[in-house]
Amino acid sequence: MMAGSHAKTPVTVIGGFLGAGKTTFLNHLLRNGGERYAVLVNDFGAINVDASLIVQHDGTTMTLANGCVCCSIGDGFLETLGKILDNETPFNHIIIEASGVGDPWRIAEIALVEPGLRLNAVVVVADAARISGLLVDARVGDTVRNQFAHCNMVLLNKVDLLTRAEVAAARADVAALRHGMSVVETTQHTLPDLPNGAQATVARFTAIEAGDRADHERVFRRWSYRRNGAFDPAKLERALSALPPQLLRLKGSCRLAGDALASLLQMVGQDWALSPAPDEMASQDDIMLVGVGTDALPDVSILDTILDGALIDTSQTHITNADINRSQAELTL
Ligand SMILES: [Zn+2]
Repeated sequence: MMAGSHAKTPVTVIGGFLGAGKTTFLNHLLRNGGERYAVLVNDFGAINVDASLIVQHDGTTMTLANGCVCCSIGDGFLETLGKILDNETPFNHIIIEASGVGDPWRIAEIALVEPGLRLNAVVVVADAARISGLLVDARVGDTVRNQFAHCNMVLLNKVDLLTRAEVAAARADVAALRHGMSVVETTQHTLPDLPNGAQATVARFTAIEAGDRADHERVFRRWSYRRNGAFDPAKLERALSALPPQLLRLKGSCRLAGDALASLLQMVGQDWALSPAPDEMASQDDIMLVGVGTDALPDVSILDTILDGALIDTSQTHITNADINRSQAELTL
């Protein structure tokens, strides 16, 4: 038997722009795959929120911190891959979730520098409602189009939220990017399994061209917002709609006045939703949100001020009924 030839661990990279549904797809694979996966998650935000949204599974989940992996061909990434390969109990498959601004192919190339790996597939998730606009967006269009440059499969996601004509238009825009690309229409409930080995024969890369490739660290900006306290739901609604359009994505956990449990806030463009936060998200701060914006994102102090306006007035909420009774008692003395 030729050493190493039979033992290469397959790698699948999941890409797609901010908010497309990458983590949802990943969780679907982990719930249904029945394999021992090593999952690597690269959030662009300052705090790895996605890692805390990934379901428990038999394998392991690791976060790739310190910025966009595809831009910082850092030792950290290869070191992490090395650790996975050296693990006593081998993993059947490595799944890497690229950051929402990252180039999944570039991550695949870096991964393939490691001789113990072979590329299984690059899957790109696209939000059917937003992809046509994103592809031609002056600010982010380049980044979005690049994500499709070498993928095997596109999941045109959330099609149940659109009319047939809208889905057909989105599909045509994606299909026009590259000839012969496989585009699969999906909803949150009809996600496919991993494609199997479509790129098993791709040659291993020995060098990574630097060239004039975009530096996502410069093209996009981060914002993180941490506070103790809670949001007033009505004020939060107003604050979110007051955030500037340069903010592309905002997500994380927060507290709402009157709620005992934390909420997960997910905002893509101007659309946002609140849902119960998973237990894994528990953080030291009551409110921990991370945002990603274009390089024209206003100063974080401006963004902070907008969200601060949605906080309940803590000087008042700390006055309890007991305080009121006591002060009334003092008044009658
Ligand atoms: Zn990058």
